[in-house]
Amino acid sequence: MKITMCGKAVAACAFTVAAGLASAQNVKVTPLGTHTGELCGRDRATIFEDPTGVRILYDAGQSLTGADDPRLGDIHVVLLSHAHSDHIGDQKLAEINGGTCAQPKLVDAGPNSVTAEIIAAKNSAMMIVRELGLFVGKKVANIRGKPPVACAQTANATIVPLAAPCLAVVELGGTQTFKTSGAARSVDITVVQAAHASNLPRSLLTDAGKASLVPDELAANVGPATGYVITFTNGLRVYLSGDTALHTEMKTVVHDFHKANLAVMNLGPNAISPQAAAYAMNELVRPASVIASHPNEGVTSGGKLNANTRTAAFVNLVKGRAVYLALSGSTMEFDSNAKCVAGC
Ligand SMILES: [Zn+2]
Ligand SMILES: [Zn+2]
Repeated sequence: MKITMCGKAVAACAFTVAAGLASAQNVKVTPLGTHTGELCGRDRATIFEDPTGVRILYDAGQSLTGADDPRLGDIHVVLLSHAHSDHIGDQKLAEINGGTCAQPKLVDAGPNSVTAEIIAAKNSAMMIVRELGLFVGKKVANIRGKPPVACAQTANATIVPLAAPCLAVVELGGTQTFKTSGAARSVDITVVQAAHASNLPRSLLTDAGKASLVPDELAANVGPATGYVITFTNGLRVYLSGDTALHTEMKTVVHDFHKANLAVMNLGPNAISPQAAAYAMNELVRPASVIASHPNEGVTSGGKLNANTRTAAFVNLVKGRAVYLALSGSTMEFDSNAKCVAGC
């Protein structure tokens, strides 16, 4: 109806309407690191918001001040790629912008982890590979006084927001579906392979658990380390690498099958070199856009890439696709084709 009021300018008016619809269908990606506007050593936590309102937290880590971090907002689904301390969050950020970008000021997060505290406080579904998911579920039970149950499903989807935390645990390759009530489409999340370890920080174990491991220097391994592929309702398909070495499923599963078009690539020399990470993007995953995260170094000053960093080497080696730095607190918006249309 309103278009007819435009008279001779109908084409321009139609364009405006189309652009408005498009922006309403973007996925918002907001990294939550230790220092506002920067990409810093400990940064991992990232929030994804679907156009229908489903909000997902990927790897809470150590860059949040805890469940009360004012930047979090509603969190409907929590993803955790593996058990390492810098992902589950054995420590938390003392204060936003505390310490330096390379070495932020962290404090002990207590016996339950940042991840479990957020799930408990936000009534989140925890979509985590089974062994690690059950461990985190125990921590959530410690906080709330009763264990979380399996997420209820309506027509194969978990409807959010939830009234209590719930377990959406799966095996490698498993998919879970989430939607807001009334939404026509759902968000699908699949656990995919990562080539890495997944052992818990001992500080999160009970005394009995610690005692069984310490004499032989054993680690408490809790299933495979993983990544994820999220298919959003606008058609955007995001690959979250987790910590990983190069592996062939980046091509066969993530590219060929899932057709991921946006990748969040974890850097950091413990697991992957800048050259290998760039090869993963250029030759295996081949997304339209890349977000660089998990740098294990101070990457930016004043929001600008420092030239003498491993991350700069990675950025320079990635060809034929856009690379964005996960600047803390800066929301990027991606359309269905993984084109950044705002905030980049
Ligand atoms: Zn790790
Ligand atoms: Zn890590």
